[in-house]
Amino acid sequence: MKRLHGVIDGKPFPSEASDTIPILYPATNQVQAEMDVALEREVDAAVDAAARAFPIWRRMTGTERGRILHRIADRLRRENDDLAMMEVMDTGKPISEANQVDVQSGADALEFFAGVAASMTGDYHTLGDNYAYTRCEPLGVVAGIGAWNYPLQITCWKAAPALAAGNTMVMKPSELTPQTTIRFAEICHQEGLPEGVFNVVTGDHRTGQHLCQHPHVRKVSLTGSVATGKRVMRDAAETLKHVTLELGGKSPLIIFPDANLGNAVKATMLANFYTQGEICSNGTRVFVHQDVIQPFTEMLRSATESLVIGDPRDPKTEVGSLISESHAESVMQYIQAGRDQGADLVCGGQRHGEVGNFVTPTIFSGCDDSMSIVQEEIFGPVLSLLTFRDEDEVLTRANATPYGLAAGVFTNDLNRAHRVTAELEAGTCWINTYNITPVEIPFGGYKQSGMGRENSRHALSHYTQLKTVYVETGDL
Ligand code: NAD
Repeated sequence: MKRLHGVIDGKPFPSEASDTIPILYPATNQVQAEMDVALEREVDAAVDAAARAFPIWRRMTGTERGRILHRIADRLRRENDDLAMMEVMDTGKPISEANQVDVQSGADALEFFAGVAASMTGDYHTLGDNYAYTRCEPLGVVAGIGAWNYPLQITCWKAAPALAAGNTMVMKPSELTPQTTIRFAEICHQEGLPEGVFNVVTGDHRTGQHLCQHPHVRKVSLTGSVATGKRVMRDAAETLKHVTLELGGKSPLIIFPDANLGNAVKATMLANFYTQGEICSNGTRVFVHQDVIQPFTEMLRSATESLVIGDPRDPKTEVGSLISESHAESVMQYIQAGRDQGADLVCGGQRHGEVGNFVTPTIFSGCDDSMSIVQEEIFGPVLSLLTFRDEDEVLTRANATPYGLAAGVFTNDLNRAHRVTAELEAGTCWINTYNITPVEIPFGGYKQSGMGRENSRHALSHYTQLKTVYVETGDL
């Protein structure tokens, strides 16, 4: 049985604790490896390694740091197919997605931040005969804590800006999906990242808690659920760490009657069934104008029923396995609640296959805003159709949620599109598309969907602190 360890100073660091966690292939639930649970000793060792590396890494020029990040990105692209298959084995997502998106979006982030590393500057201020300037300095040791839906992408989205800015890092991947992050640490070492700059600790919430409580960790960046975000913030508050939280959502997707319905149907599927619906920004509350609900529902049902569900390793598969048996059960409980609360099942709603954690893509129509399937994040392939009559009404209902990660608007009236997105309480709004997150633009949540931003130059401000230097040129 393969045993997975953390990586500290570029080398495997077996845990002394006897506790391990089995890593399952979600499509069969067979055990593929046993993973160490890093406790205090391992977390301390990782943080110490990162702290030792910090003065070396931060003193390198941005160009030098960027050059190493570029090499790591190139290597990810060369190993795309192997890394994608590793991701499939951990997450159960289809290889057709992992091959195209997961590794490449990680490499994109490394390339983007490798490029901006050299252009980080401060300001200069003339103050009479005196002057002042600012320095954009790294924070020190930062911790990353990841979710299980996009493990390598999440690791890269955190590591790229953190390392580009001169921080060093300890990453804890989800306890369900550690393999690509461990491989990433090996690649970093082989491509010349100095020892200790990027370290990995494996484990569950206990390992995460040690990181959040560690006095020498200056920042925590979490991708996870709202409940975990609150716990992380509470622990981080004890030593006033900086915090970035990328949390859950229950995002609205609004289809006005003048929209191109073919495109709206495609976007609705992308917003609900890509990665089996296990995407934080998914548009799971689909508000469709009452004039087009009938043709829209019919087109959506027919396209959804033609999705190919099955073996994630088969390139033809479009819908893979949910992450775990317990998650599939939780999704099925929501589907039952939808039925019990009076929603109409248009299609799906069943477990699929003899083994694994497959759930068929599910559409409910006739939903109302109070149903639990409409209110709560299910994080699976379950879509709720809601109808509306006018713009003000749909805006009020779209914003009536504690979440605020994303939103989508479909209309051919661009004035309306901009008017509506200006009122939507969401960190990212898409007009006539959905779930597109290139590295060039910021991504993050409003309200309880989180704080801070990943991607774009804005992410750098979350991994740096500003020092002001005032210079007196005369006598006092
Ligand atoms: P989770 O909150 O259960 O776990 C996330 C990570 O936090 C894991 O690594 C876990 O071990 C760790 N953790 C748990 N408790 C902790 C604690 N007390 N202290 C420190 N670390 C702790 O989430 P999940 O089930 O892995 O992922 C699904 C959730 O993540 C969904 O809510 C989804 O919306 C969200 N998500 C958000 C984004 C985003 O960018 N906004 C992206 C992907 C997933």
